[in-house]
Amino acid sequence: MSEDEGDLIPVVLVKQYVFCPRIVYFSEVLGLRERETDLMREGEEMQQVEDSRDQRRKWLPGRGIETKSARHGKLYVSRELGLVGVVDVIAEKGEVAVIERKAARRPRRVHRNHVYQLAAYALLVEEATGRPVRRGYVHYLKSNDVVEVTITEEAKRHVLWMVQQIRRIIWEERLPPYVEKPACKSCGYRWICKQI
Ligand code: SF4
Repeated sequence: MSEDEGDLIPVVLVKQYVFCPRIVYFSEVLGLRERETDLMREGEEMQQVEDSRDQRRKWLPGRGIETKSARHGKLYVSRELGLVGVVDVIAEKGEVAVIERKAARRPRRVHRNHVYQLAAYALLVEEATGRPVRRGYVHYLKSNDVVEVTITEEAKRHVLWMVQQIRRIIWEERLPPYVEKPACKSCGYRWICKQI
């Protein structure tokens, strides 16, 4: 694969890079897809139900935040950042915030890959609107909890660094080294990872 300035990195790849850089190689270089589990199918169904609820909802659940100005599922594209992603956005008290839904229960802490996913969305929305994005929300559908996440400038800079690393993996077709970690247990690429 050759280097092309026009190549855009989907935000979901940033999320996956944080989970494990090897996934970028498996999905983008080898073209493999994770094995679909019952959990993933359930997650997709929950997202669809939530999409239809969004059409009539006036509040972000549990937060009392008005979402009447929400723009659900808008595609943001930035050649400057090298990023593309579909983002749910709300405007509140003169500020803009980004929202991401997860078909899971609220964890003790917001997972790192979801924090950086929000930071990547924040960069896209900032560029498109010219307004700062300093906060995001993760809506956990299974427990119907909404958790606020502070999006720091450092997190945004780290996203830009990761975009470069992702591009290198793809362009150089370079498989990152195997490092055993707790995430391996729930990884959809485990079936191929140890064979390579
Ligand atoms: S099994 Fe572990 S090392 Fe392999 S891709 Fe998944 S998370 Fe990464």
